[in-house]
Amino acid sequence: MELQPLEERLAEVQARMEAACGRSRRNPDEVRLVAVTKTFGPDTVDAALRAGLGLFGENRVQEAAAKIAECGSAEWHLVGHLQRNKVRPALELFSMFHAVDSVRLLEVIAETAAETGHQPRLLLEVNVSGESSKFGFAVDALSGALDAAAQLGGPSVTGLMTVPPFSPDPEASRPYFRRLREIRDRWQAETGMALPDLSMGMSGDFEVAIEEGATYVRVGTALFGRRQTWAKRKAATEDE
Ligand SMILES: *Cc1c(COP(=O)(O)O)cnc(C)c1O
Repeated sequence: MELQPLEERLAEVQARMEAACGRSRRNPDEVRLVAVTKTFGPDTVDAALRAGLGLFGENRVQEAAAKIAECGSAEWHLVGHLQRNKVRPALELFSMFHAVDSVRLLEVIAETAAETGHQPRLLLEVNVSGESSKFGFAVDALSGALDAAAQLGGPSVTGLMTVPPFSPDPEASRPYFRRLREIRDRWQAETGMALPDLSMGMSGDFEVAIEEGATYVRVGTALFGRRQTWAKRKAATEDE
């Protein structure tokens, strides 16, 4: 199968995002596209920058550190799980952490950010489906975590993120996205505290996520094609 140029794939993703906004009467400015470049190299990021993308997502701190150093200027978000011992380098690289998943991690972020002065926005990952294999706060544990975050007084929690169970059918994700928005809406109504950001939707289900209120969609494959191993490709070219 011939791969379309990145410009075409980006235009297609943007058109689908706008159509989803139209169907749900949302302003397209409310939804940001996070281009997930994990496993792709700086060459891909630079092509994406030329195509007009400016916000990128990575899921591993070490890989991102090596890559970001070689790329032009852009905004970077950490979309995957963060280990506590990687908080310090992560603060140097990312303006938003999408998947904060424990109170202990919130504490380490608050302590480290107090030293370094970084103020990333934080999203709490919620395991809406309750799958045991998933990272994220149980729905029952979320209000405790939000209270803890408020008391820590570190970088602000500005919203929630979720990854639904994998399904080839985008409609299968809808109940999980809707539930996340309802949890957010209830929290806001009960506490008067704002949680404007909802990070939900990937290549297979970003339109459904937008219809259910996503403000960030995290899209990799639909933009860049199947993932490859940058490290492997890099080694292969260096061997030539
Ligand atoms: C890889 C990844 C994505 C992008 O997935 P695609 O299906 O390739 O769009 C989104 N979110 C997270 C947390 C990821 O790890």
